[in-house]
Amino acid sequence: SAKAAGSNKWAFFKQQMTERAVTRLRTEASLHEAIKNNEFLLYFQPQLDLKSGQLIGCEALIRWQRGDKLVSPMAFIPIAEETGIIIAIGEWVIEQSCKTLNHWQKHYNFQTTIACNVSTKQFTDAGLISHIKRTAMRYQVKPECLEIEITETSFMNDVEQAIVKLQQLKTAGFGIAVDDFGTGYSSLSYLRRLPLTTLKIDRAFISELPGNGAIASTILTLGKQLNLQIIAEGIENRQQLAWLENNGCSIGQGYYFSEPLPLDEFEKRYVVAQHSLVGL
Ligand code: C2E
Ligand code: MG
Ligand code: MG
Ligand code: MG
Repeated sequence: SAKAAGSNKWAFFKQQMTERAVTRLRTEASLHEAIKNNEFLLYFQPQLDLKSGQLIGCEALIRWQRGDKLVSPMAFIPIAEETGIIIAIGEWVIEQSCKTLNHWQKHYNFQTTIACNVSTKQFTDAGLISHIKRTAMRYQVKPECLEIEITETSFMNDVEQAIVKLQQLKTAGFGIAVDDFGTGYSSLSYLRRLPLTTLKIDRAFISELPGNGAIASTILTLGKQLNLQIIAEGIENRQQLAWLENNGCSIGQGYYFSEPLPLDEFEKRYVVAQHSLVGL
């Protein structure tokens, strides 16, 4: 009967919810373990000058080495956010990035920028700014070599508070990028008030190129008016690259150039290749 079918559906739904909750609890518990056991690693995706192909910087993207599986951040960052473990993970990402910049500087005399993703919960953490400053200082990292990527949701709820925080970062000299720009619901009038350095055009708009360039070109115009650096995310082919070059976008990242790479791969391709070892 319909009633039986309905109750079956409900039972199925409940079972699914339970399974999901159990998976979440397991993941939460193992995330705590993962920090202790050093199971996270950073991959690096190059950001290139589109004309010359020169390296401008890179974005640090976290991975979780869980047994023999490499877990994507999409699978655990949301859970880390909900449970608050993101604070510890985020501090690890900043520290690891500073350590890496220090290593490149000391061993290869190589200076570049690393962009670190900071999620919404992390951005509201009262200790964030001082942690970033302290860590950069400890590893002798110039603030302009570290860029903080936030998304629009990070400043939507409390713009005034966000402005205060971003101003502290900017005053200290750190870069500030808005990630996935154009996908959130931030108002353009806020944008002018935020002390930003960079807008990253979301991959969704790059994937529409070259056919539909309306959004990408609007963001490029806006960025120029506000005197911001623009980075195109998710460039996958020549046609997209050509459109961007023709429309005044000078920096980009994407699979067309390189996927995110493990540290040693990134070093082989972009660091050691261009910079001789200090003292050799
Ligand atoms: P995101 O910051 O927007 O990073 C860009 C994502 O797009 C990365 O996925 C990258 O691998 C992928 N990508 C780059 N180029 C291309 C391309 O040409 N085509 C396609 N289809 N994808 C491309 P990933 O590494 O899986 O990271 C996903 C998201 O997880 C990131 O999006 C970011 O929001 C979050 N995330 C990554 N690392 C961290 C972290 O250390 N902390 C925090 N809070 N979030 C992170
Ligand atoms: Mg990002
Ligand atoms: Mg993005
Ligand atoms: Mg994203």
